[in-house]
Amino acid sequence: MSSDNPTINTFQYLRDGGEMGKLIRAYDWSENVLGKPEYWPQSLLTTLSIMLNSRFPMFLWWGPDLIQFYNDAYRPSLGNNGKHPTAIGQRGEDCWPEIWPIIKPLIDQVMSGGSSTFNEDQLIPIYRNNRLEDVYWTFSYSRVNDESGNPGGVLVICSETTRQVQAHHELLNAKNELDFALDAADLGTWDLNPLTGSFVGNSRLKAWFGLNADSEIELSEALEAIVPCDRERVREAIKQALTYESGGHYDIEYSIVNIETAASRNIRAMGKAIFNANKEAIRLSGIIQDITPEKTVSEQLKESTQRLEMALDAANLGSFDLDFTTGNMICNAQYKANFGYPADAPFNLQLFIDAILPEYMPEVVALRDKAIANKTLYHAKYPVRWPDGSIHWISVHGKPYYGRDGKAIRIIGVSNDITRQVNAQKELERIYEQARLSKEAAQLGTFDLDLQKGTMEWDERCRTLFGISHADPVSYEKDFLAGLHPDDKERIHKKIEEVYIKSVSNGDYDVEYRTIGLDDKKLRWVRAKGKTYFDEQDKPLRFIGSVLDITEQKSDELRKNDFISMVSHELKTPLTSVKAYIQMLMEIELAKDEFMKQVLKKADNQVKRMGSLIDGFLNVSRLESGKLLLNKEHFNLNDLIEEIKDDASLIFSSHVIKTTHCDTFTVNADKEKIGSVILNLLSNAVKYSQKNSAIHIDCSEHNGMVKISVHDEGIGINEQDIKKLFDRFYRVENNQNRFISGFGIGLYLCAEIIQGHGGNIWAESTPDKGSVFHFTLPLLN
Ligand code: ADP
Repeated sequence: MSSDNPTINTFQYLRDGGEMGKLIRAYDWSENVLGKPEYWPQSLLTTLSIMLNSRFPMFLWWGPDLIQFYNDAYRPSLGNNGKHPTAIGQRGEDCWPEIWPIIKPLIDQVMSGGSSTFNEDQLIPIYRNNRLEDVYWTFSYSRVNDESGNPGGVLVICSETTRQVQAHHELLNAKNELDFALDAADLGTWDLNPLTGSFVGNSRLKAWFGLNADSEIELSEALEAIVPCDRERVREAIKQALTYESGGHYDIEYSIVNIETAASRNIRAMGKAIFNANKEAIRLSGIIQDITPEKTVSEQLKESTQRLEMALDAANLGSFDLDFTTGNMICNAQYKANFGYPADAPFNLQLFIDAILPEYMPEVVALRDKAIANKTLYHAKYPVRWPDGSIHWISVHGKPYYGRDGKAIRIIGVSNDITRQVNAQKELERIYEQARLSKEAAQLGTFDLDLQKGTMEWDERCRTLFGISHADPVSYEKDFLAGLHPDDKERIHKKIEEVYIKSVSNGDYDVEYRTIGLDDKKLRWVRAKGKTYFDEQDKPLRFIGSVLDITEQKSDELRKNDFISMVSHELKTPLTSVKAYIQMLMEIELAKDEFMKQVLKKADNQVKRMGSLIDGFLNVSRLESGKLLLNKEHFNLNDLIEEIKDDASLIFSSHVIKTTHCDTFTVNADKEKIGSVILNLLSNAVKYSQKNSAIHIDCSEHNGMVKISVHDEGIGINEQDIKKLFDRFYRVENNQNRFISGFGIGLYLCAEIIQGHGGNIWAESTPDKGSVFHFTLPLLN
């Protein structure tokens, strides 16, 4: 495209323009399709003039061949060793083969009258700096009309944005990386504008706080999620971080409760404030971290440590931690107390070593070394000397801990003061020894029945008393029952059955029986005493007791009985004669004299008393030689009582005797012997009570038995004596009955007679108020 007007001062337009101005002016345009500048159209020259003087990057394609021009500002975009300076005057297609397909349509669009284009940050890779580079452009293609008003060329006003785009990309990458890191670390982010009070958090923060995901919010709204007891502290920490002097540091832990879901979390928030030149905070931003799990673990740890301390405290246990490498010893107050030191006193390894009694030291060390070598728990008991000189026993349990090299580095454990237990143990051993010696001295045998396990333990002495020579465990049937004398077997078996029933025997067992040695066939008399122990439901658990050989005592008694029986018999004959003589004397005339009558009456009474005493002794000896025979007959109880009252009206005249409810009861029993029982009980009631006091006999029915009760208002009997009243020759020794005669055989005989009838006899009493003696007999049915 040439001009016919070579007169135009072309260089006026192509003046200046820096390097590109120079290059365009120096270019040999005569060889170019555009021809020399003198012939260039005005529109081209004007455009070039604008271009060369612009500091904005510009590029021009002119004419059908799209011949190129560009300015200094554009030049760097072509790089070094690339298209510059060949691009000047070059055809567009020749210059940009690599991007021609992209840009040619744009050029065509503009050249064909279409609107101008505008592209921002468009990637248009170009060849420069000896390689194809990714280059970003923001550019506009606009048409330049020639003088005829037709499109003459395309002006490209552009700017390379490669750096900005790359920076943007880097920023995006950095942001992504940051997001990724925040994600991976499960961190929330926040940013506070102190000037406006507005607060922005990332989605995680908002999810934790229960805040609206998109909005910027007021700080006060975010603070709402913080638990009330932490809120003020957080507010204060923010205020502090916003002061220049604080260095802008913000680091705090608090709890939040999600506003929406009420889920709670423990949070650690860290941040930093930025200050302007006036030392005013313009931003405070940072992260938050959910420390609930750590918090829970540390709280659990704290809690379990506290619990452990409480448990140690409650159990009065000392605790220690001895570091072998440093010799340091950490211990609690109770541990010090176990060594006699107050809680605030210093305590160390040396004091510990000094406290142990030296003679125990080798054992303590050996036990410790053994535990370390075998990797087992360490347990030792040793006496220590307190600073006040007293000796206390300590029990220690410890566990060794080892380093990487397998060497023990420390031992941790607990201790307690066992002085009392040790002393109690010693005392127990002493008592056992004493008991063993006493048992040996008294030749006592012992037995122990575990009713739960079904085991029966007899000591050697017990076995000897049953003539057992085998060493096997003893059995109830094969050893005990089999060893009993046939006459005693049933009675003792029944007693043992009763001793297991609390309501019947209260667990008490006190019997005498004969054994016939299982192996040595020797007859022995033994006395066995024992006690059954019951659980809360009165179920028998254990039956324990002792057995004593009373063979000799028994034969003495038998001899004594024989003697008493013989003497009684011998006395009975002369006494009967004396009684007959008195009767005869009473008949003769002389006795009609009042004085004689009195004397003879008294003599007769004394003889009668003596007779009944001798009868008593005879009864005892008969009883003991098993000669108590019962002559049973049917009789009415009331009739019998009346007969007794009549016969002994003289004895009873000092008292008021009343009988109730007895006339309806008839029994089948030995009338004479039951009579002697009632007589005995009535005589005692008279003997042991004041003149003119009342005696009451009452009969009643209980479980198919008739119960006869004799009440008096006398001196009464102590609790401890009541149990023994029915023992032979037992008399209560006290001031009140010191001068009342008796041998202590009456109640013994009564008991034997009643038991011989299958009944029971017992007494109840309140001292100084009176006593009741009850006995039962089977009823006729
Ligand atoms: P004794 O011939 O000594 O009376 P008993 O065997 O009849 O012998 O009685 C034994 C002991 O029981 C008596 O010594 C007496 O201490 C006591 N005793 C018996 N009956 C009564 C009673 N009704 N009141 C008080 N004590 C009594």
